Amino acid sequence: MTTAARNEPIATDAVVIGAGPVGLFQVFELGLLGLHAHVVDSLPVAGGQCIELYPDKPIYDIPGTPACTARELVARLLTQIAPFNTPFHLGQQVNSVQQRADGRFHIETSAGLQLLAKTVFIAGGVGSFQPRRLKLDGLAPFEGRQLFYGAPETASFAGRHLVVIGDDEAALTCALRLASPGPTQAASVTLMHRRDEFRATARTIEQLRQARASNQMQFVAAQATGIAQSNGRLTALQVATADGSSRSLPLDTLLVLTGLSPKLGPIADWGLAMERKQLVVDTEKFETGVKGIFAVGDVNTYPGKKKLILCGFHEAALAAFGAAARVFPGQPIHLEYTTTSPRLHRALGVTPEAG
Ligand code: FAD
Repeated sequence: MTTAARNEPIATDAVVIGAGPVGLFQVFELGLLGLHAHVVDSLPVAGGQCIELYPDKPIYDIPGTPACTARELVARLLTQIAPFNTPFHLGQQVNSVQQRADGRFHIETSAGLQLLAKTVFIAGGVGSFQPRRLKLDGLAPFEGRQLFYGAPETASFAGRHLVVIGDDEAALTCALRLASPGPTQAASVTLMHRRDEFRATARTIEQLRQARASNQMQFVAAQATGIAQSNGRLTALQVATADGSSRSLPLDTLLVLTGLSPKLGPIADWGLAMERKQLVVDTEKFETGVKGIFAVGDVNTYPGKKKLILCGFHEAALAAFGAAARVFPGQPIHLEYTTTSPRLHRALGVTPEAG
């Protein structure tokens, strides 16, 4: 679903910043009104908090859906917007939003993608999820050379001595993948977490147990306290083990997978009125102080605001009408029912049975 960075701005009716549940439903409401949207999210997958924070927990307060997991909700939202063939630009943060003299908005992402949109929908939730950084004196300059936050499947760590820090599914899967025999196998893999306990599926924990038993990889229960370097290269991680002793873990490469935390980030720099780190909007169109920039979902605030998915869905519907009036000036914007409107049936690619 990702697209490559391009040099020329892509013109579009709308850009939705954030692919959480509300951003996804925003695409649907825009599509019903004939507005084509692009979606950008800093995460590599759609779903926002639902996927990042509680994918397998059930949600009980989605209207008409007595129970579904957060992951199922996201999958259903993606299915619902499929008819609109929405381009998703994932794994990149929107860094700037600037209004041009012609009223359109120039949007630029961390990957260099540029979009030129008639309307912008900020559905940034609690912010853009960023890796939790390991704070050790002198470590930061090694980022991108010997220190990585995450381990993209495309990166090669074959033949390297790796230390992987983390205790969740992502950290364990990464360590197991890099320790597996084959052309991508590392010379050694040491998984480190402060306790010999993990937040991963039973299957992955069993795989880890087997890999440790067969010496395919090591595990160390410890916390990092410092680094050792020589001739400009990171050579070891100094750690305090669970029994209180200190030791040094030699390495070529350090992979830190200690989870993500949300940062409001650049949204706060776009000159929009904010209250307690949330964007102030009206309750007619959920528009910010800048005409054409709307804010929906957890990122906004107004009297009576509740951070619930269903409230975000309502906001998305009204914001879409607000945007349609801007994109199609002078044209009446009718409310049509999906049940009975032939135009909406065509847009959704459905053929309802007569009755
Ligand atoms: P988010 O889900 O936060 O998504 C925002 C997205 O925007 C993120 O993916 C982020 O990476 C992206 N983003 C931000 N800034 C940028 C940028 N500059 N560039 C690119 N991307 C950016 N709500 C309910 O209604 N019912 C529940 O039962 C419920 N249970 C919950 C349980 C837990 C444990 C938690 C944490 C929350 C729960 N919520 C529940 C709240 C619900 O998840 C949020 O209200 C909802 O996720 C908000 O959706 P959103 O689309 O506004 O934002």
